Amino acid sequence: MDMGRVPRNLSPMSKANPRTVEVVVVGAGMAGMTLAHALASAGIEVAVIDRADPDTLQTASHDGRTTAIAAGSASVLRGIGLWDGIGVHACPIETIRVSDNDSLMFLHFDHREAGDVPLGHIIENRLIRQALFARVASRDNLLLMAPAVINDIERSDHGVVVQLDNRESLRARVVFACDGRNSGIRRAAGIPVTEWRYDQSSFVCAIAHEHSHQNIAHERFLPGGPFALLPMIDLPEPVKGLLHQSSVVWSESNDLVPSIRDMDDAGFTEALGRCVGGFLGDIALASPRWVHPLGLSHAMRYTDQRLALVGDAAHAIHPIAGQGLNMGIRDMAALAECH
Ligand SMILES: Cc1cc2nc3c(=O)[nH]c(=O)nc-3n(C[C@H](O)[C@H](O)[C@H](O)COP(=O)(O)OP(=O)(O)OC[C@H]3O[C@@H](n4cnc5c(N)ncnc54)[C@H](O)[C@@H]3O)c2cc1C
Repeated sequence: MDMGRVPRNLSPMSKANPRTVEVVVVGAGMAGMTLAHALASAGIEVAVIDRADPDTLQTASHDGRTTAIAAGSASVLRGIGLWDGIGVHACPIETIRVSDNDSLMFLHFDHREAGDVPLGHIIENRLIRQALFARVASRDNLLLMAPAVINDIERSDHGVVVQLDNRESLRARVVFACDGRNSGIRRAAGIPVTEWRYDQSSFVCAIAHEHSHQNIAHERFLPGGPFALLPMIDLPEPVKGLLHQSSVVWSESNDLVPSIRDMDDAGFTEALGRCVGGFLGDIALASPRWVHPLGLSHAMRYTDQRLALVGDAAHAIHPIAGQGLNMGIRDMAALAECH
């Protein structure tokens, strides 16, 4: 563990002298970090542990996706003082259009029907993560331990003891597993999951384009899977003379994935252009491209003795509606009501 990351006010620990906090959060992903801030902002002393280096977690090469943060989630983030750091990078979604392949008909959702706020916002994950890590230093009661390897988590009537592989340990009242869809804590607790693969993968990238997206999010149901085009804030520098920017989540059936993945950038952009249609004018790739295999997993229960599953550790779903992290944020709201 990099002791340089431990805030000055927190003393070193040893197995013989474990540090006591109220809550241990395992996983400093977007769900874990948001939960840790929510707890800390309520005055609860919390330690968040991740096996990965925070510097790595904040890069686009670790996570090049964007997230659609729903209006309700933005309210939660505002309530715990995180929205200022995140919202500054956010592009509002004012309209959502859902269409079926080449049909001229589409479903149209206008934010004015729901109220005076956008339906949601699109933000790059690396920028959400940067905002979450940047706030750690300002919270005296939030201890970030990363990278750190957990050897054992012992849960009993008396509390939780988390042993790290460097012989340090933490004592807490409860542990929140935010360790993602393949949660080792969930497995160790013997909590069964329902899961299946969708036989689809999503290509993720950003494109620069000629015409404004007009803050419209598009979801097109193509034969191989849903194709989402999500409005982003303009690029800081034009790419091939194009300043407007959108995020793409292009889901395709797995048998087509290798041939699309292996295309060069020109071929990929041409294929992408056919999915987009011509309404954005010229387009160009504005980021590397990533491929995410898609699956669903749902824990049969979310709690065990002194343990709660939060975020993808509890439920990981298809990105079609951009609800995965939003559900994790709703987990936090539900937990807050239990406090
Ligand atoms: C293509 C795509 C697009 C998406 N778009 C959206 C969207 O628009 N809106 C939305 O709401 N959701 C979206 N999602 C879903 C969203 O990205 C996930 O729900 C969210 O990232 C899950 O966050 P998490 O913190 O629960 O898990 P993760 O991001 O998986 O984080 C888990 C963390 O736990 C750590 N960890 C794991 N095991 C251990 C261990 N033993 N010890 C210590 N640390 C450990 C890992 O290092 C990691 O940092 C999308 C998903 C995909 C695939």
